Amino acid sequence: MRDWFRRLRRPPLLDEALWRRAIASVPFVSALDAARLARLHALASRFIRDKAITPIGDLHLDEVQRVQLAALCCLPLVEFGEEGLHGWSQLLVYPNAFRVNRTHIDAAGVLHQWDDELIGEAWETGPVILSWADVQEDFASPHDGFCVAVHEMAHKLDVLDGALDGTPPLPRAWQRQWADDFQRAFDDFAERVDRGRRTEIDPYAAEAPEEFFAVCTEYHFSAPALLRRSFPEVAAHLAKLYGPSPFA
Ligand SMILES: [Zn+2]
Repeated sequence: MRDWFRRLRRPPLLDEALWRRAIASVPFVSALDAARLARLHALASRFIRDKAITPIGDLHLDEVQRVQLAALCCLPLVEFGEEGLHGWSQLLVYPNAFRVNRTHIDAAGVLHQWDDELIGEAWETGPVILSWADVQEDFASPHDGFCVAVHEMAHKLDVLDGALDGTPPLPRAWQRQWADDFQRAFDDFAERVDRGRRTEIDPYAAEAPEEFFAVCTEYHFSAPALLRRSFPEVAAHLAKLYGPSPFA
């Protein structure tokens, strides 16, 4: 406990008035209890010190908006701790959704190229990228099941053990249970989506186990009752990893 405290104390805390002003309009954060809020304050202070937050194009981010981004990115780390920030150094922020060029060489050796429009992306060993317009949309509608920043941070947690597979680094017994429960829920969900059934959870979660984890993370923070109803075991794992949802 003392080590944990000492490590979190190292960076000076963000100015209290600035911190309060920033989180006042971040609904996921302002709903936290006092103890978790203090931990988030320390994590966000470290984030601001260690990560370069770079607005792209004509976007300007003021001091308050930078702290809002730091707070939101650190929200999934309140229980996990600062180790969750390892392995990357840049947050790139586009004004709006952004286009990325994709290429894929199929089994026949044919090159396919296409454009994707994204609101967020997390490279395995590189930056986190967010659309500021979509982050603001999440602030405005915090109960809709969307929160792009925590989605990308789930990918960063997932890849800490070197494999982007929907399972973050956890104590061994928990990790085994997690893998079983998530696999079962993912298979069931992917089958429902394949059959064209209507689902309460965004069907994007059926893309891959890692997207299932990241999308369920969004529901944990913004629509926890819906997640519990759809996947009670998954919801329990996420409540243990992240702490109780601010809207539980
Ligand atoms: Zn994703």
